[in-house]
Amino acid sequence: MKNGNLLTGDRPTGKLHIGHYIGSLKNRVELQSHYNSYIMIADQQALSDNARNPEKIRNNLIEVALDYLSVGIDPAEANIFVQSQIPELNELTMHFLNIVTVSRLQRNPTVKNEIKEKNFNQSIPAGFLIYPVSQAADITAFKATVVPVGDDQLPMIEQTNEIVRSFNSIYKKDVLVETKALLPNEESRRLPGIDGQAKMSKSLGNAIYLADSTDVVQKKIMSMYTDPDHIRVEDPGKIENNMVFTYLDAFCNDKQTLSKMKEHYQRGGLGDVKVKRYLNDILQAELEPIRLRRQEYEKNLDYVNEILKQGSLSARSIAAQTLDEVREAIGIDYFK
Ligand code: ATP
Ligand code: MG
Repeated sequence: MKNGNLLTGDRPTGKLHIGHYIGSLKNRVELQSHYNSYIMIADQQALSDNARNPEKIRNNLIEVALDYLSVGIDPAEANIFVQSQIPELNELTMHFLNIVTVSRLQRNPTVKNEIKEKNFNQSIPAGFLIYPVSQAADITAFKATVVPVGDDQLPMIEQTNEIVRSFNSIYKKDVLVETKALLPNEESRRLPGIDGQAKMSKSLGNAIYLADSTDVVQKKIMSMYTDPDHIRVEDPGKIENNMVFTYLDAFCNDKQTLSKMKEHYQRGGLGDVKVKRYLNDILQAELEPIRLRRQEYEKNLDYVNEILKQGSLSARSIAAQTLDEVREAIGIDYFK
């Protein structure tokens, strides 16, 4: 017996990175035996800001699927599916849009921030502005009670629950269920990029990917943003906003050694290269088994495609049931 339903997903805008890994993927692997897990590749959401570049989304679908399988999401345990193959989600979105105001959408802090990052200025695609509502449709279609995500997704969960409460109260039926975010520990909620500028993101070119080779990972670590004033080894260094220490906080399990290193660095006498090497050892050890599993799945892409196809078929039947209940609650089940 499982504890309830879980929904989560990623946009196929690129390969997944170590921010996804500690912010969400790792959690999902642990949770898949405890919850009925629906893991969605959000291709339709990705099209909301990539409508003119659909090849990018198409090409990355399989990459995200490979990332899932290689971190240990088990298709026998979790349902991996493709958002665009479930048209019921779109109809749900339409019903929800009628009970959400434009000003509420414009207030969503994550969307606001993304609009800035993506330089949309006044040309915000309407589909992009409403993607939190489509996310609410995804979550509620599967009656998910938990959503393991990074903290950039908290405003989406809040908006989803507002929609659930409005819907149930307007149509006087408890059709939809409220959900809650499952956040990882503090250090892993929003891993910054290697440049230290913004959160690590596929769209910003500041990521270490799960599929990166040993060499590439090492190069990226060696180029990481540290303390610009820590010029000579003897100089005292800052650990705040120093990406190498931020990453160590997220990935190093030996907190004792880490805190000694921090003291040493702050005191002076510990060089960046040494700390970077330490981080490199830790990250490579974590990534190596993932890389090897990925190489195995890459040899059998037909099998990976079949997983997505079957997953989408069974996800669709669940979403269709919820949609039936929603139609009935609204009263548009005329010909039943
Ligand atoms: P895009 O730039 O296309 O939006 P992204 O890198 O932000 O890509 P998403 O697919 O939007 O990735 O996010 C998928 C999930 O991963 C979400 O739950 C999000 O909270 C989490 N996540 C994304 N980036 C990070 C990060 N840097 N640290 C922790 N969690 C993250
Ligand atoms: Mg994102």
